[in-house]
Amino acid sequence: MAGTAIHGRLSWYVAKLVERRKETPTASSLVFDVPGWPGHDAGQHVDVRLRAADGYTAVRTYSIASAAMGERLELTVELMPEGEVSPYLVEAIAAGNPLEILGPIGGWFVWKPDQREPAQLIAGGSGIVPLMAMIRSRRQAGASAPFRLLYSVRSPEAIYYADELRALAAANDGLAVTFAYTRAAPVDSTRGPQRIDAPLIAANAFAVSENPIAHVCGPTGFVEAATGFLTQAGYAAARIKTERFGPTGTS
Ligand SMILES: Cc1cc2nc3c(=O)[nH]c(=O)nc-3n(C[C@H](O)[C@H](O)[C@H](O)COP(=O)(O)OP(=O)(O)OC[C@H]3O[C@@H](n4cnc5c(N)ncnc54)[C@H](O)[C@@H]3O)c2cc1C
Repeated sequence: MAGTAIHGRLSWYVAKLVERRKETPTASSLVFDVPGWPGHDAGQHVDVRLRAADGYTAVRTYSIASAAMGERLELTVELMPEGEVSPYLVEAIAAGNPLEILGPIGGWFVWKPDQREPAQLIAGGSGIVPLMAMIRSRRQAGASAPFRLLYSVRSPEAIYYADELRALAAANDGLAVTFAYTRAAPVDSTRGPQRIDAPLIAANAFAVSENPIAHVCGPTGFVEAATGFLTQAGYAAARIKTERFGPTGTS
């Protein structure tokens, strides 16, 4: 029920879809109007609850893609072909359709515009979503912390926010973007299709001497691999923040 306090300021809100944008062949960005939404920090997530006519509910967790924008928020969802919730969100939900949102959730995997240290962002697939909220928040606040994004995707077509990321990187205001391809790389790519590895991290990450903070997000295996390579590069565990996009349950 909208506005029901769970604990602290966590509440369920009724959200109405105002826009659905195809992000890639298998992912959509969804913009919701959420009356009463208290705002959020970049990196936080929400629980989305779908309710069937017979009362059955399904709950899944989604990161917020947008910087704070009043009572609106944007999610980006990747289609899991056998999934219960993501096919509805990516392909079926129509403008005006309501659903329930609990949040904002999470206080550790966040970036705030008053942070000054270099931010090393590493994304695998849909793990770009909360990192994009950080990039957008940095831009919105005119913050000067240096950012580097290393974004691992299957192919050029699988890049979320491709035009926006390229434009932000071209603005040359302290955000560097590197794409790494696992299945199909563009012809002008200096690196063939392969998974991220220690040399790639060593070549692209901020040096430890710059006191960076790393945010790593993606499927569990990707996060574990990237964290291992950062550790090899000398990052202390306390300077690596992670978010795993493992499956979440139903209720
Ligand atoms: C903190 C957090 C943030 C998340 N943020 C996002 C986000 O911004 N965008 C997004 O698209 N997803 C995100 N997810 C994943 C999301 O919660 C769902 O797991 C995903 O949308 C699949 O739900 P489903 O109901 O379609 O599939 P389900 O019915 O739950 O599962 C269908 C099949 O897919 C497998 N599966 C489910 N989820 C995953 C997964 N993430 N990776 C690999 N296999 C999986 C299941 O094991 C099962 O075999 C996040 C998860 C967490 C925990």
